[in-house]
Amino acid sequence: MVLQTVDVLKNEIPFEEETVTIFSPAGLVLVDIINGFCTVGSGSLAPREPNRQITQMIEESAKLAKLFCDNKWPVLAFLDSHHPGKLEHPYPAHCITGTDESNLVPALRWIEEEPNVTIKRKDCYDGFIGSIQEDGSNAFVDWVKNNKIRVLLVVGICTDICVLDFVCSTLSAKNRGFLDPLEDVVVYSRGCATFDFPVSMAINSKDLLAHPQELMHHMGLYMAKGRGAKIAREVMFHAPGKA
Ligand SMILES: [Zn+2]
Repeated sequence: MVLQTVDVLKNEIPFEEETVTIFSPAGLVLVDIINGFCTVGSGSLAPREPNRQITQMIEESAKLAKLFCDNKWPVLAFLDSHHPGKLEHPYPAHCITGTDESNLVPALRWIEEEPNVTIKRKDCYDGFIGSIQEDGSNAFVDWVKNNKIRVLLVVGICTDICVLDFVCSTLSAKNRGFLDPLEDVVVYSRGCATFDFPVSMAINSKDLLAHPQELMHHMGLYMAKGRGAKIAREVMFHAPGKA
């Protein structure tokens, strides 16, 4: 069998995915599952055609959001939202505040009405940094502490950019003791996706790097695991109240 280049590279940096059992109190973090990154034709960074990895990410995230909402467990949704005229280099203008690009995808729009859901708009890649408020407090840190979250389950887009940046900052903050009682950060692989920008298109772009989807998704999970996150192939839930 002739291995594809992507498989050769993945073989060079293999990692193990596990079945993770989530015990409450757990919190679900949805990273940027918004039209501007997920809905075909919805702006400069949206997919140009239906994308299997992104579709799966939305389906899995919506299932988890339903389960968390049914149990009234805390959910935090980051929504990339930029002020008009303020670019996020090196990307073209995207997800401008007030446009539908910066809103949750149709499959998740309903969570805005749920009392256990916190919506946090951010204007940078990293949701941890984006949660810093004018008075120096951090809305994400407060959310973890107020809900006494011990396990964080993270899904969303892009695996190797906003998901990874958030996971790295969260693990650094946890290691410094800023996020007690948080113990574990779990990244659910099928609940994450990234975009596809093949090298054949990148050679025509001055700023944007090539970004082969499958490989960059793998890299994002690998880097998160390298920081101490658990990478879940499957998540099970331990029903509260049971021994
Ligand atoms: Zn952005």
